[in-house]
Amino acid sequence: MITETRQVLDKRDRPLRDLRISVTDRCNFRCTYCMPAELFGPDYPFLKKEELLSFEELERLAKLFVSRFGVEKIRLTGGEPLMRKDMPELIKKLARIPGVRDIAMTTNGSLLPVYAEKLKNAGLHRVTVSLDSLEDERFKAINGRGVSVSKVLEGIEAAKQAGLGIKVNMVVQKGVNEKDILPMARYFKEKGHILRFIEFMDVGNTNQWNKKDVITKAELIDIIQQNMPVEPIEANYTGEVASRFRYLDGSGEIGVISSVSDAFCASCNRARLSARGELFTCLFAASGYDIRELVRNGLSDQELTDAIGSVWRNRTDQYSIDRTLSKPNGKRKVEMSYIGG
Ligand code: SAM
Ligand code: SF4
Ligand code: SF4
Repeated sequence: MITETRQVLDKRDRPLRDLRISVTDRCNFRCTYCMPAELFGPDYPFLKKEELLSFEELERLAKLFVSRFGVEKIRLTGGEPLMRKDMPELIKKLARIPGVRDIAMTTNGSLLPVYAEKLKNAGLHRVTVSLDSLEDERFKAINGRGVSVSKVLEGIEAAKQAGLGIKVNMVVQKGVNEKDILPMARYFKEKGHILRFIEFMDVGNTNQWNKKDVITKAELIDIIQQNMPVEPIEANYTGEVASRFRYLDGSGEIGVISSVSDAFCASCNRARLSARGELFTCLFAASGYDIRELVRNGLSDQELTDAIGSVWRNRTDQYSIDRTLSKPNGKRKVEMSYIGG
């Protein structure tokens, strides 16, 4: 049966373009700004296997997002996505879906030496590796598990050897790792990988966020500019979250993801599926729409499409804009490790 792909617009005229899938809420790191060790301890009630969407359920839902709504890009995230067993099997399933043009993964990189080649062979195109410092003691403290920088650099090297596209994400926090901005920029300029600075965000409820701890896009670019001149360049496509800058010496580019100082809600076109199978339409939402229940209750593809379409059509989210206007909704938010950034 041929089904028609429709563009679906939300209440602010934003189309649904990208799908982000969190495959697990577990992680082998305890980054202080995401899963602080004192709160995510040995007794933390992580989801059980049967609570997660199975690979078959994920494949079915991804097919609907692609064939019914025209989604072309899928990003796998977590928690740490490589903590979920058999990820190459899931990627094979997703890569087979007609219409999928880009499959990416956000990862802390520590398990890439084991999996990079298998992931590439399965059909993964790109990885975004998170790394917040090149200084071992600082990085160990930030990741909360004493993991060395070299572990992550080995992961990046393994991704390169496997032929995966690579970007690096650095969350910048005032008083924590601002000293690392320039060494990170220099290192990845030299290596030829795009580094993206992420403003520290008030995701979840546990990371003790304070606006004073944010280094803004303007401050970041100022620091880079004084040492390695850059100029802004056009976005690659509508809805790209990072503002792009290129080095004037022609040696590459950097990006800044400025959710706090320069909100990009107006072009936000991402749907997020949590590890438990809820559909979230904003990173800062208080709750998601329970798709897993519908799938497990035997709804048809058409009924699922109608449900997803209706959630998107009713979407009004613009948390970061509201935060700028000092009117965030004050509700308890979903944790980052649960929907994956
Ligand atoms: N574990 C994987 C990783 O770290 O790349 C994937 C999941 S992680 C939640 C996705 C991204 O969100 C990472 O790049 C991480 O640095 C970023 N992140 C987590 N908490 C954040 C916060 N409070 N502010 C800004 N970015 C954050
Ligand atoms: Fe784990 Fe990624 Fe969160 Fe760090 S940012 S605790 S690596 S999920
Ligand atoms: Fe999108 Fe919500 Fe982020 Fe705004 S705050 S860009 S709506 S995820």
